[in-house]
Amino acid sequence: MDWMKELYSDLVMRYAKDSSVQRTIDGAISAEDRNESCGDEVQLFLKLKDGVVEDASFVGKGCVVSMASASMMVKIIKGKSINEVENILGNVEKMMKGEDYDEDILGDLVAFSGISGIPARSKCFYLAWSVLKNVLQSLREGSK
Ligand code: ZN
Repeated sequence: MDWMKELYSDLVMRYAKDSSVQRTIDGAISAEDRNESCGDEVQLFLKLKDGVVEDASFVGKGCVVSMASASMMVKIIKGKSINEVENILGNVEKMMKGEDYDEDILGDLVAFSGISGIPARSKCFYLAWSVLKNVLQSLREGSK
């Protein structure tokens, strides 16, 4: 099956093994979550300045899919405005549901374009994004 091959492609493996994004950030906003069914854990660190993600990283452990997804996430959101980050998140959710999404916005994340067909892996893929979503939500509530 082509899609399974893609799920563990060189690109995905490279992201999963990229330790440069796995670190803590002092003074950053932090949140974490875990995926009980697979044992994946992701703690996200976000440093914001003037509504822009100045720095982003994570600390975690788990399967290739969850780690590659978190790694791609912190790389793609770094340097982006909160609005852009929300747009990326929205497109990730569409991709996960099998709906139309903007490939240009998601970049390397399209390596996971078949994720909607594999519910168990979807949870792994979405873990980091659910943490991000919670952070964005609390930011919005905090700024009211
Ligand atoms: Zn997993």
